[in-house]
Amino acid sequence: MAVASLLWTLFLFSIIFSLQSSSSSSSDTPITRFQQYLRFNTAHPNPNYTAPVSFLINQAQSIGLTAKTIEFVSGKPILLLTWLGSNPNLPSILFNSHLDSVPAESEKWIHPPFSAHKTNDGHIYARGAQDDKCIGVQYLESIRNLKSRGFVPLRTIHISYVPEEEIGGFDGMMEFAASSEFRDLNLGFAMDEGQANPGDEFRVFYADRIPWNLVIKAEGIPGHGAKLYDNSAMENLMKSVELISKFRESQFDFVKAGKAANSEVISVNPVYLKAGTPSTTGFVMNMQPSEAEAGYDLRLPPMADPDVMKKRIAEEWAPSIRNLTYTIIEKGKLRDHLGRPIMTPANDSNPWWSIFKQAVEATGGKLAKPEILASTTDSRFLRTLGIPVFGFSPMTNTPILLHDHNEFLKDTVFMKGIEVYESVISALSSFEGVSDQVI
Ligand SMILES: [Zn+2]
Repeated sequence: MAVASLLWTLFLFSIIFSLQSSSSSSSDTPITRFQQYLRFNTAHPNPNYTAPVSFLINQAQSIGLTAKTIEFVSGKPILLLTWLGSNPNLPSILFNSHLDSVPAESEKWIHPPFSAHKTNDGHIYARGAQDDKCIGVQYLESIRNLKSRGFVPLRTIHISYVPEEEIGGFDGMMEFAASSEFRDLNLGFAMDEGQANPGDEFRVFYADRIPWNLVIKAEGIPGHGAKLYDNSAMENLMKSVELISKFRESQFDFVKAGKAANSEVISVNPVYLKAGTPSTTGFVMNMQPSEAEAGYDLRLPPMADPDVMKKRIAEEWAPSIRNLTYTIIEKGKLRDHLGRPIMTPANDSNPWWSIFKQAVEATGGKLAKPEILASTTDSRFLRTLGIPVFGFSPMTNTPILLHDHNEFLKDTVFMKGIEVYESVISALSSFEGVSDQVI
């Protein structure tokens, strides 16, 4: 009897123990930590930065990383985590992501955008699931795994979480990159966000296109709506609109013919037209106005020559002889301090590329042809300083849903990303070469 009751007690204990361990493992896993991070509403125009930064600091401490927050603009913190390498004199490596996200129209989502709801088939729905909270958590989870295996990096590894990327990065990475704190990191190489691929290769980005805002203003003699005469403001502006449309077409033809990717040509798109003499019911219809204006969004790939473009605008698109004036707002640089196009070599002339590529392939993954990003990321502030940067978010077989309704990431894709970063982080941080030779 005594033996039987002892066995029974042991049996009960084992059930209780297994229930406890399974409940603790299901409540605190890489997936649940990802969901927790996704539930912070960091959408503009009022991103909550305080709560996610506390969460990330807790995570960092549980792994044994040092954490530091820096505020260049009040209420907009930059979180910097550090894993000291065995040779901290070597240039360090940085893994960056942004804290903020674009807004979400919740009524158009099948699950609330900050619920991080996981469906039975593993799709995790949340604003930021792809852009780019996935990488922010994957960096940490891969380091957690590397540490538990006893891995020691040779180079120091930094992880940064920056605010305001989605509205240009001016109060975030731009300030950080210009600071002495940033210089002190002595970076040799960095990685930042990329994009998903519906196919089964990982996408990687070696440059960003740089936006220019162009505004063309036309002036002319006003006149009766019935009169045919030269040099009206509208006529002058419409000539520009036609010329710009022709240029747009010539660039688009390269894309349509398969000679260039969308991000490899100069895009120019009209974003507004402003003219007319207002009346109580709309516009005065029998009057030709004395002023007219058009606004354009231009995107220039790094190989585009900014001086040639400026000459084209001055001489063809908005010449003063047609009473046109213009302003250009450049949202970034196309050339570095030595006059070279700002891009990171994605070939074997760059040892960081070779290491990165091999590390991805070691996990059974394949890299797609390196691309220029059609839009912009915070990478541009780092590349301008001569730091090589690749944009990379390991998401294969995933529709591109950044900034879209119903943004999601599948749990298995997220977990594969952790494995990829383990390989990438351990390989890059073990690189013995001197980064001076490779920039
Ligand atoms: Zn992003």
